[in-house]
Amino acid sequence: MEADIVIVGTGFFGLTIAERCANELGLKVLMLEKRNHIGGNAYSEADPETGIEIHKYGAHLFHTSNEKVWKYVNQFTSFTNYVHKVYTNHKGEVFPMPINLGTINQFFRAAYTPDEAKALIAEQAGELAGKDPENLNDKGISLIGRPLYEAFIKEYTGKQWQTDPKNLPASIISRLPVRYNYDNRYFNDTYEGLPTNGYTAWINAMVDNPNIEIKTETDFFDESQPYNKAALVGKIPVVYTGPLDRYFDYSEGKLSWRTIDFETEHLEVTDFQGTSVMNYADAEINYTRIIEPRHFHPEREYPEGKTVIMREFSRFANEDDEPYYPINSDDDRTALLAYREKAKQETDVLFGGRLGTYQYLDMHMAIGSALTAFENLVAPHFRDGAPFAAKEKAND
Ligand code: FAD
Ligand code: UDP
Repeated sequence: MEADIVIVGTGFFGLTIAERCANELGLKVLMLEKRNHIGGNAYSEADPETGIEIHKYGAHLFHTSNEKVWKYVNQFTSFTNYVHKVYTNHKGEVFPMPINLGTINQFFRAAYTPDEAKALIAEQAGELAGKDPENLNDKGISLIGRPLYEAFIKEYTGKQWQTDPKNLPASIISRLPVRYNYDNRYFNDTYEGLPTNGYTAWINAMVDNPNIEIKTETDFFDESQPYNKAALVGKIPVVYTGPLDRYFDYSEGKLSWRTIDFETEHLEVTDFQGTSVMNYADAEINYTRIIEPRHFHPEREYPEGKTVIMREFSRFANEDDEPYYPINSDDDRTALLAYREKAKQETDVLFGGRLGTYQYLDMHMAIGSALTAFENLVAPHFRDGAPFAAKEKAND
């Protein structure tokens, strides 16, 4: 097939651009994927032993308040009414997360009203009154006071980031709400759910068009295969969703990432923990949480007497590890700015997605930014001959 556009990476950013190009503009799209399957980190498959759907690269919960994204994704899948809730084990006792009135009353063995709890936390956070918390430690204390911070945040964060919370940016926990009522939904978004027939069915529906050709096990940097960087860039518009530093041969240094090791275990019980995610708040337990995927789909008929669980261990990513969470240290920020300048010179390449922009993006954000890039850059290029990759808009 003679392609009109090449897309490197088949995660949600690449899939969305491919789908729009083929279905909206009638273009011929060639997608390259290093792995042996499509879908990027949202990929899931049935566990051969139990049939339970396993999210291979970590639990993926879909949630969004973006009407456009919600309407878009519903063309390819319906969603179940799953509502994500998380619990946390502290000193052998289970509490609801994120911190809400239930957590506060259980922790202090009290029956505070919302106003009483607010007054208590304000008093306990008083040591930082008037200061603008810059690091995660101070931000945590100012949000929930020292006792709750030390019980539920300090050691968990230490395990997850392997960095003293005093050296982490405050923004990491800003996304965790604190509620003075008994609402323990994990996400605040308007829409939430899991794809009814699984992530793979959703992903396949997005590329169900004969004009989309996909080559898996094809690395864009492998010059022994014909669809490589040297052969394609400058000759055809390229959407690149692989790692930004890799594209430039790490010339400005390596951007650092955190990865997760998953320890999977099969157990001869129907239900191991009664919920999908149990966090472990204390440092003595060296994993951060246990996922039990059968609870993501209570509506399905999964077998009795067996289940599968995954313990998660977080650590810095080495070269061969899956890059999961950008660390964003000062060195990373400096390198990132230099890479962004270089990316601006690549006028035939659109850099997108979480690896291509070195950003943590939820699925709805990856899809939303791909829809915007399609509307502002890709479609005007093919319709009217506008420049393919006006970088100020795409990467800043
Ligand atoms: P990716 O999905 O990473 O896709 C990039 C693709 O490019 C990959 O398939 C990769 O193999 C391919 N690639 C890279 N280099 C090359 C190359 N040289 N040649 C060819 N192909 C290449 N989001 C949520 O909304 N809810 C969640 O609960 C959630 N949980 C998450 C949990 C974890 C552990 C992680 C890591 C992420 C989670 N996310 C979640 C985020 C979600 O995974 C991303 O939003 C989504 O993957 C972004 O898609 P993408 O296309 O940007 O990148
Ligand atoms: N966090 C915590 N205790 C918990 C859950 C979260 O301290 O029980 C902190 C931790 O620093 C984490 C951040 O809140 O990195 C964001 O939590 P979230 O669950 O959104 O993180 P993710 O699982 O996406 O890394």
